[in-house]
This record gives sequence, structure tokens and C-alpha cells, in this order.
Amino acid sequence: MSNDVRIRRLPAEDLAKNFEEVIPPYTDQEAVTEAGRCLFCYDAPCIRACPTHIDIPSFIKKISTDNLRGSARVILASNPLGLTCSRVCPVEQLCEGACVLGAHHKPIAIGRLQRHATDWLSTAREAPFTAGRWLGKKVAVIGAGPAGLSCAITLRQLGHEVTCYEARPKPGGLDTFGIVSFREPVAIALAEARFAEQAGVKFVLGTRVGQDVPLDRLFEEFDAVFLAAGLGQVPRLGIEGEGLPEVLDALEFIERTKTQALDQIAIGRRVAVIGAGNTAIDAATAAKRLGAEEVSIVYRRSLAEMPAYAFEYDFAKMDGVIFRWLTAPVRVVGEQGHVTGLECERMKLGAPGPDGRAKPEAIAASAFTLPVDMVIKAVGQEGRFEWLAPLGLAVKAGRFVVDPQTGATSHPKLFAAGDCAGEGGAEATVVAVVEAGKRAALGIDARLGGPALRAGTGPSQARILGAPIPLRPASASPVYVPQGVHA
Ligand code: SF4
Repeated sequence: MSNDVRIRRLPAEDLAKNFEEVIPPYTDQEAVTEAGRCLFCYDAPCIRACPTHIDIPSFIKKISTDNLRGSARVILASNPLGLTCSRVCPVEQLCEGACVLGAHHKPIAIGRLQRHATDWLSTAREAPFTAGRWLGKKVAVIGAGPAGLSCAITLRQLGHEVTCYEARPKPGGLDTFGIVSFREPVAIALAEARFAEQAGVKFVLGTRVGQDVPLDRLFEEFDAVFLAAGLGQVPRLGIEGEGLPEVLDALEFIERTKTQALDQIAIGRRVAVIGAGNTAIDAATAAKRLGAEEVSIVYRRSLAEMPAYAFEYDFAKMDGVIFRWLTAPVRVVGEQGHVTGLECERMKLGAPGPDGRAKPEAIAASAFTLPVDMVIKAVGQEGRFEWLAPLGLAVKAGRFVVDPQTGATSHPKLFAAGDCAGEGGAEATVVAVVEAGKRAALGIDARLGGPALRAGTGPSQARILGAPIPLRPASASPVYVPQGVHA
């Protein structure tokens, strides 16, 4: 059996079409019609279900009166990354899941309406955020992903000087590099970074803190440091054949589809994706859309334990992805140095493990080989934080322990949020880390004496186009349970 990995499995025009945004934008008329269905509920449950507490009835009302600028302002006042979140939020589990119209009819399409308003603002190239009066403090942000941008924008509004260090050549983090473009094009993530830049956030791109810039220097030069470095690395499986050239990390594979010409990306005729989270689904559907004939998701548990969202699962099935439940990889089979198969064994579910989930157990003598040309690993993420070891930060389950209300770590000058900190980890939603970044900005502001420095200067400087930054207690989100990203 020989390996069959090659470029241009599909004509260039088919590839381009396959990677266009799957959900089409609303026309103005469609948006007004949909907005007209909203009941503009008093004490709207959709607001409580949104982790960033966007005033949803207010922004929908503005769409219904053709005030897209005002609508976008309402959204961004609570969620600085409203463009991304309109595309990647699991709305069925959040705002739309809580919409009162869902019980008897169809919930309002809140995500698509949010996209309609924020896309308008982006296309108009308006600067939605304004910097607050400078209070004389400087903050370094490490990582220009969703948590970093959210924190940086909020800090600018509060009147702090912000410099954002990003290891990659472009800002946006996961939104730019790790979400397939048929869900979120690169231009959308970059538009949000542009908003930050317009508000005065300075970006230092292609610079890795701890390697290109010593962390100590940041502590010397800045009054506070916010860590939002993400995780970004898929752990090793530790199985034979993992080092073969056609075994890829899912994030690396997705990044290729966002940074390279689609007709130059090699893909196998048959592809196995290991894992069943949202990143696995993204990798599997991207493989299909690059022209792979057969794409299998290999998962050692069952559908009931699958971490991916239901809508992601449905989407993958529509794209023809095969799900192989209760199947665990044991060896990548290679011939002449190239992948030709994935040896697997069948599993059954046993007693619950320490995490409460049923533990998969191998069934004796059940091994079989799946003929594949490429294997993509999507089994979670881990970070490399040796460079932070001298700080002796508290770590739990591979992530830094922080105060969830302020993002404060055990180091007096260091705050953290995003995938690398707190409880969410790689399975946190983008919207959850946006909120965490916002909270950390207020935590940093408080530590730097912002409220006192602003005293007597009239209403808070923390304003976006006239609207105050809403911040409610975390407990005000009864419906929200972080699970699975998308991202
Ligand atoms: Fe509108 Fe539904 Fe929110 Fe009520 S719950 S305000 S109907 S979106």
C-alpha cells in the first residue's frame, strides 16, 4: 500500500468556494425582518446568557430602525471582539438558547444579527474605541489573541498605555490562525486588531516574550503585565509512528489553510483525525474541503461524551465526515517512511474516571487497521511555560491559577486570562476569554489605582462611543457553562 498525499485534489475554483464563509450574511432587508420578530423583553434572558452581557434587545432594536452604527456600538461596548463572537459563539447554548421565542417558535438569530451590525462597522472602517485620558501607567500584554485584545482595548479605554507583544507575524491569535476560514476569515480577526490599533494599542509582532524579550524587562518597564499567551500545542500521543511526516497537529494543519494558497496544501486521499473536539471537527471538515475522499474522526469514547458542539457535529456529518466512536489509535502504520494506516483498537466504556466521564477500556483482540494517508492529531492543547518557571506561579491542571474576577496571579505585577489561565483551558469559548480579558483589564486598572486617578474627572473614562463598559458579577450568567471552543 502506498501513501497518497498530494496538492490540488480539487480545481482551484472549487477550493476557493469551499473555504468561503459557510453562513451567508443577511441582506439589510433580511436583518430588519429578523430584528422585527424580537419582543425586546424586559429583563431579557438572552442578555443573562451572554458571557459578556451584550444588551441584545437594544442592539436588535437599532437594527430594526436601520441604525447599524448604533447597534454595533452597543455590541462592542460589552464585547470588544463582537465580530469574531458573532461567528464562533455557540449561540444555541448561550443567547439564542435562552431566547423566549425558542420555546414555541424559532429563537431570534442573534448571532447573525450581531454579525450584520458589526460587519457594517468594520466595512465602514470606523474606529469604534476611543482611548481614555492617560493616567500615566503602562501595561504590557503578552499575546494578541482574543483575551489579549479584549484586555488591551479595555485598558486603552481606561486610560492606560498598552504594548502588546505577539510571537506571530500577525495579531489575532486563534481567531487569525486557528479557526477555519469558512467560519471566520482572517480579515475579520485582523479588523478587530485594527480596532485595537486605532485605539492606540501598540503591537510588537514577531516577538516572543521569554525568548526575544526577557520577562524581567517587561516587569521593569511596565507597571503591570497581562499574560494571554494561549496554549497552542497539541500534546504527543506517545504511539509508534507519530513522527512520520504525514502526522500533523490539527492547529498546524488549520493554520496552513489560513496562511497558504489552498491549491498548494497537500492532503491525503484518506485522512484520520484523532479527537472529537471542535478543533478536530474543524480539521476534519477542512480536510474534506481540500478534497480528501474519506475523512474519519477517531474517538475513544462515544457520541455522548464528544466535546464538540452539536452544531459542529451536524456540520461535519453534512460534509461527509465519518465518526468512528469507541475507537482508539495504537500505532501509526508506515511503509518506506510514509503513513499508510492507523492501527486502532475497539473500546468500551467503563466506570467513571476522576473527571466524572466514563473511562474507555480496550476490548481484547479487537485491533484493526484503518487505511489512511494522513493523520491529524486534535487531542487538546498544552502550553510551554518554562520561561515563567522562576516566578513560581500556582498551576492547576496545566493552567495558571488566577482570581476569576480580576485575573490576578500570585505575582503582584502579573495578571493572566485566556486558555493559559483559569478553569476553561483549551475548551473555553472565545466569548468566555473575551470576558476574562475584560475583567482582567479592570483588575489591572484597580491595582494601578485607576479609579482613584480618575476621581474628580467626571464620569468614568471607560467609555466606548459613549457607552460604559458593563461588568456584572460572574454569577449573572446562570445559563452559561463553558464547554468547547471554538474555538
Ligand atoms: Fe429578543 Fe429573544 Fe432576547 Fe427576548 S429573549 S429580547 S425575544 S432576543
